[in-house]
Amino acid sequence: MQYIAPLAKLIEHFRALPGIGSKTAVRLAYHVLDMDADQARALAGAILEAKEKIGYCNTCFNLSDRNPCQICDSEARDHSVICVVEQPQDVAAMERMGDFKGLYHVLHGALSPLEGVGPEDIRAKELLHRLYDGQVKEVIMATNPTVEGEATAMYMAKLLKPAGVRVTRIARGLPVGGDLEYADEVTLSKAMENRREI
Ligand SMILES: [Zn+2]
Repeated sequence: MQYIAPLAKLIEHFRALPGIGSKTAVRLAYHVLDMDADQARALAGAILEAKEKIGYCNTCFNLSDRNPCQICDSEARDHSVICVVEQPQDVAAMERMGDFKGLYHVLHGALSPLEGVGPEDIRAKELLHRLYDGQVKEVIMATNPTVEGEATAMYMAKLLKPAGVRVTRIARGLPVGGDLEYADEVTLSKAMENRREI
């Protein structure tokens, strides 16, 4: 036993987080021990509160603390355009860019036959249902510029076009194989501007 039990447990929890190696996990655990009790309570409380209060919007499936979410519910947004992304983090990236005033749809993944991810495993049907009231004129496929992202864009275009909407794909200004989440605002803005019909 290298660490006393409660410390070892804390280190294990940090190590299980994405992007945290053993050294960082140890550093974070010692940092927590250095906090005063109020700080530690606030940290633990923030984790619990986020888990308890945040769920998915039943319309766009983005993370939200209300239903429908603030974006779906906003009169100021353009309800005739839906931007389709893979993950909630991508919505955050788009909102940081600030140019897009339409709505979103989060698929929660991309098609990947190799990993056994099919249309039933992502929120594809739910997007089709959103087109039934005829309000939506354009669906922008902003899935990642990866093999899976491209395949998903193609699949969704086939699924959605019969509903009478224009389906477009963001331009390839994004680094191939990269994640939308990490694209800078200018690149993302250009990619949106130069989208083309698929
Ligand atoms: Zn929503």
